[in-house]
Amino acid sequence: DVDVALDIDYLSAFSALTDADRDHWMRARKFSHEVLPVINEHWDKAHYPVQFVRRMGELDLLTDGLDIPGHAQFSKLAAGLVAMEISRADGSMAAAAGVQGGLVLRSIGLFGSLEQQEQYLEPIASGSLLGAFALTEPHHGSDSVSLETSAQRDGENWILNGNKKWIGNGAAGGITIIWARDQDDGEIKGFIVDQKTPGYEATAVRGKGVLRAIEQAEIRLNNVRVPHSALLSNAKSFKDVSKALVETRVNVGWSALGHAQFLFEAALTYAKTREQFGKPLGAHQMVQERLAQMLAELTNMQLQCVAVAAQQTAETLLPRQASLLKYHNTRAARRIAATARDMLGGNGILLENHVIRHVGDIEALHTYEGTESIQALILGRDLTGFSAFG
Ligand code: FAD
Repeated sequence: DVDVALDIDYLSAFSALTDADRDHWMRARKFSHEVLPVINEHWDKAHYPVQFVRRMGELDLLTDGLDIPGHAQFSKLAAGLVAMEISRADGSMAAAAGVQGGLVLRSIGLFGSLEQQEQYLEPIASGSLLGAFALTEPHHGSDSVSLETSAQRDGENWILNGNKKWIGNGAAGGITIIWARDQDDGEIKGFIVDQKTPGYEATAVRGKGVLRAIEQAEIRLNNVRVPHSALLSNAKSFKDVSKALVETRVNVGWSALGHAQFLFEAALTYAKTREQFGKPLGAHQMVQERLAQMLAELTNMQLQCVAVAAQQTAETLLPRQASLLKYHNTRAARRIAATARDMLGGNGILLENHVIRHVGDIEALHTYEGTESIQALILGRDLTGFSAFG
């Protein structure tokens, strides 16, 4: 058994937690303990256990710390720790929480009308309604600014046409926020679409080698007609969509830390127990050096997370800071994953040891919410003043 209760915090990054922060963190840990014994089976069968999304709602783990009536509001630090802890158990569940709270609640909270907020915030926060955020298209991922899905005003309605890909919860029977281009003014606008609306067709993407315990959908929108009241009226352009993504990138940075923490702990536990050449692996010098390298990376990840949480708390977070965190932490998590996998030898590729699931799931984190290269381009533009995107 892997000891998930082991906490590594060499530079006391988490020493300033309040009792409330710790309570939120421990609620997430309670969830992790429930999920861990069964998640491999779901992952193996590529089955999305939606009951666990509702369970996260019950434990108030879906809000990403946003202020939702009837739900505990928690600090940015606690929101990060929750993302970290869920990821430490499983990336699919962390992705589900990230879509539900990070993307959908945040979008409706930032851009929705009071009526929309009253209708959707509570059911999404409690997990009784599954939400999706559909920005990416088959031909527009990193350049989603060029998306082609169209929104045409027709009296008191809008008509949506186009295709979306990789949409978490997009075929789960709930609602989808569709980002589409207004054919009149050319700006990107958001619409809350019930997945049962005629013309909305979604199928789960099959054949994924990672994040197999959550479904992403490919969506076809064929003359989907929605009332004007479905429009997220405070989202005026792509810049507004980007605002929502800044905070979710922070969440991904914490998730990368959770995966890395699990992998480090698994490698350390294994090094202490597995013997080769007459002594524990951990008694060999090279193994100790690898543990030290992993520890140094992990500690840097923790410090970046805590520093960014402080910026969020002070409401001074800059997009480039969120990009730096995502860039650094997903890269570091990938390196830790490769080392940990190797340190378990052949056992490192067995699902029963959990390591290989984390190794794979980190690949998705590395790509979504803006790839490594896209974060690098954001940082490069800031450093040089030259935009190298186009
Ligand atoms: P591409 O944009 O085609 O990129 C391919 C490669 O080219 C990458 O290495 C990229 O870094 C590189 N590249 C691209 N442009 C440049 C450039 N200018 N310079 C240098 N290199 C470049 N989207 C949603 O809207 N909602 C979701 O819920 C959602 N969930 C997802 C879940 C998973 C598991 C995955 C894999 C994706 C999800 N996505 C979602 C989509 C995700 O945001 C995109 O996959 C991501 O933005 C990258 O787009 P792409 O896959 O089309 O890759």
